[in-house]
This record gives sequence, structure tokens and C-alpha cells, in this order.
Amino acid sequence: MKYLSISYKIACTLLVLCATVPLSFAQIKQQNLKKHIYFLASDQMKGRGTGSAEVKKAANYIEKEFKKYGLSPLGEVGYRQSFEARVRKVVVKDSIRTAENIIGFLDNKAPYTIVVGAHYDHLGEGHQGSSRDSLGVGKIHNGADDNASGVSGLLELARHYSSNKEIEKYNLLFIAFGAEELGLIGSKYFTEHPTIPLENIQWMLNMDMIGRYNPENGLAIIGYGTSSKFPEIFEGIQSEIKFYTSRDGSGGSDQTSFYKKNIPVLFFHTGGHPDYHKPSDDADKIDYPSLRAILELERQIIDHSMKQPKMDFQWTN
Ligand SMILES: [Zn+2]
Repeated sequence: MKYLSISYKIACTLLVLCATVPLSFAQIKQQNLKKHIYFLASDQMKGRGTGSAEVKKAANYIEKEFKKYGLSPLGEVGYRQSFEARVRKVVVKDSIRTAENIIGFLDNKAPYTIVVGAHYDHLGEGHQGSSRDSLGVGKIHNGADDNASGVSGLLELARHYSSNKEIEKYNLLFIAFGAEELGLIGSKYFTEHPTIPLENIQWMLNMDMIGRYNPENGLAIIGYGTSSKFPEIFEGIQSEIKFYTSRDGSGGSDQTSFYKKNIPVLFFHTGGHPDYHKPSDDADKIDYPSLRAILELERQIIDHSMKQPKMDFQWTN
């Protein structure tokens, strides 16, 4: 009897291990989020200005991660979709610059696809405009919150869904957008030259500045009115952080390009702060535990939305 119970216990332990190991591997990890942000927002990346050698390094980093997770390339050339971006606000010699979207696909052989996006460009050393520091030209704008935080979330969601051993009922398309800071150019370009039919998109999740959670206001989830299905999708969501929803489909980031094409959207955003568009938007100011909690919340929303049939779209303004 004693032997039986011991071997039974071992069997149970093994079963539990087998059941939890792949799951825990797939969990959203704070240390991964931190690693991505510290790399993308380091001084060597010189603020990831559109057209710079450093924004190309950021693109290579994202592409390498997509490859590591086994995502299929779904740009126009491999993972890349190139386009021209014009620097409008300031007169510079090289005002037309090449930029790229980086696009990876998790193919679950499903008819419809959920798009997850975040922009990876920022203001460089302030020469392309938009700096809020009056002496900012020539200084590195690291853009840890704007938007290394969103890219870290994009990468962790891509890693999670490609390693969770589940075949979901929807495909997932992960897009790191270029040239957002010059006027949402990358996301506009994608929605004008989509690499999957736009009518097959279930909804689009955008992350832009999700690293500076403010417990007083809570996380903003914008776009809640763009489908009648979001209230049902949010039922039973468990969140470690405070959040509020707002109905608008349009706003200052890349989800707007998808909303304009009749696609339901949600935009996750932790709000403005004194370092916004300044050289001081640094990696050590990110609230990493809250960032992880935001990703965990997004994961649940994505999972719930996969239980829905194709969602309807609503204009909000
Ligand atoms: Zn910005």
C-alpha cells in the first residue's frame, strides 16, 4: 500500500509537471518585457528615428524574435513591408525616408485573424520634430514608454501564443509599425496595402505607451464602442490593475487606421506624463509589474474574443 501510494504521488507530481511546464513557459514574463525595453530604449538605439541606422537595428531585433517564435513572414519581402515616410514638420535635406513594418503571422488555419500591433519608431535625436523639450534637438529621445513598452508587449504576446501548445480558433497577425510618430504612416500604409484581406480581420489590438501605469487614473482601453461584442468579451475578465473603457474608435495612434477601414479596435494606453516626447522617457521609469498585468489582461481579452463568432463593427463618432 505504501509503495502504491508513493508511486501514485510520483505519477501525480509528474502529471502536474507535464501539465504545467508548457503553460508556465508560455506565461507573460516581466523579465522578458524588461529585456526588450532596455534594448530598444538604450542610448545605442539613438531614439529609433525614422530612416536611421538604429531604427533598422530595432527592426532586425523584432524580426529575429518573430523568427525565434516560429511566426511565418507575412510582409511583402519576408517579414518586411517598406514604404516612404515624409518628415513634414521640419525642413530637412532628407525629408523622404524609407520605413518598414515588420509582420509575423501565427497561422492556425482559421478563416479569420486578430491583429496585434505596436509602433517601434520614435523621435531619434529630435531632428524629425515632435520633441516637447525646447532644447531637445540633438538629444537622444529614448522612447521607453513611447513605444518600446508596446513593442515589448507585442513580442510577449507573440511568444505566448506561439508557445502555448494550443491551436486557437483565430489566426494572429503581429505587426510592428514604422513611422507612427510622423503621422501613423506605417499603419495607414498597411491598411492601404494589406497582406491579408481586411474583411478577414476579427479586430485589432494596439499598444502605444503602456509602461507608465498611474493607479489614480487606471489603464485606458479605448475603442470599446467599435463592436457591440466588446461588453460580452469583457465579462469575467480578471484584472490586477484598474482600467476604464472609452468608446472612441479614433485616437492618436495606429488603431485609427484600422477603425477607418470598419475594423473593431481596442487601444491600450497608460496616459501622458512629464517625460512624454522628452529625452527623459527612459527604461528605468517603466512600471514593469503593472506592464505585465496589462499584458495578462490583454491575453484574457484576446482569448475571450476567440470564443466569439466574427464580430460586428460600429462607428463611434
Ligand atoms: Zn509618440
